[in-house]
Amino acid sequence: MNIQSDTHNRFNPLLGEWIKVSPHRTKRPWNGQVEKQPAQSRPSYDSSCYLCPGNTRSTGEKNPLYTDTFVFNNDFSSLLYDTENGILEEGPHGLLQAKTEKGICKVLCFSPRHDLTLARMSVEGIEKVILSWIEQYEELGSKPFINYVQIFENRGAIMGCSNPHPHSQIWAEEIIPDIPVKELENQATYFETYHSSLLLDYARYEAEKEERLITSNEDFIAVVPFWAVWPYEALILPLRREIESLDELSPTERTNLASIMKDLGIRYDNLFETSFPYSMGIHQKPTDGKTYPGNILHIHYFPPLLRSATVKKFMVGYEMMAMPQRDITAEGAAKTLKSLSSIHYTEKK
Ligand code: ZN
Repeated sequence: MNIQSDTHNRFNPLLGEWIKVSPHRTKRPWNGQVEKQPAQSRPSYDSSCYLCPGNTRSTGEKNPLYTDTFVFNNDFSSLLYDTENGILEEGPHGLLQAKTEKGICKVLCFSPRHDLTLARMSVEGIEKVILSWIEQYEELGSKPFINYVQIFENRGAIMGCSNPHPHSQIWAEEIIPDIPVKELENQATYFETYHSSLLLDYARYEAEKEERLITSNEDFIAVVPFWAVWPYEALILPLRREIESLDELSPTERTNLASIMKDLGIRYDNLFETSFPYSMGIHQKPTDGKTYPGNILHIHYFPPLLRSATVKKFMVGYEMMAMPQRDITAEGAAKTLKSLSSIHYTEKK
């Protein structure tokens, strides 16, 4: 393997964790600064945006005049499908370890409208996004070398998002990364011990208790988890039955998922009357064909804002060295989010 050019995972023997290194991914386009304009004053089409319909991307490829969602291979993929297999082991007792990894990275535009966000799209529009995620999860997951599909959205320049046009990314890969591995293991242990699902038990408890509840509908609940790290962190969980991945959702469940995602997104935007930045990610069943007892589909939201549209929570000092720390409680954050209107602030008056 060539450690200076091939995508690989490097082992950290101190923490027992892996780090993904993608040396080929040198020059990515950056339109992030545009985000300084408030969302409502952004144009619905921007001729300099590489995600808008009909525009030409840096590879010379032209985007179609799409009307709903649009998926393409990321022009600056972290993972490539043609990376050759390779292992590195050197140093005392093989302390320095790395393994190459194959994968596919895609970009999924939510809407042709440059000025929209999930929170300002219709429930029907979000349902189409969910359907596209399902299509990608199934298509990518069916490839023999793809064992895990991570869908995520980075929103806002503050989160390192390179373009304000509403979109998500999909990274499909050979390994199951450390965070989902840990969550799957803990869910399996709970299931073996109590013969029920950790996250379903948790969702039902929170629905009854209401203390950390932000909003809910027939099929889903949004809570600030008891163990939240980020000030306004949230978790969307199924409430009624064991659902392992998006493709298991019934049409009604898809509508209710779209609806709770919109509801949470609106509350987030209303909190500081800004287009609220966050990293959102969907954890679902790996696509390696194995069974994962107790595994429940869930969506994490990690927003960095603390007190206003500009005051960010930093994970530094003690948090980098020891463990996360927070000031406002999860219960306080949930109470605030619950009390906010479910009508977007730009649509009032
Ligand atoms: Zn998770």
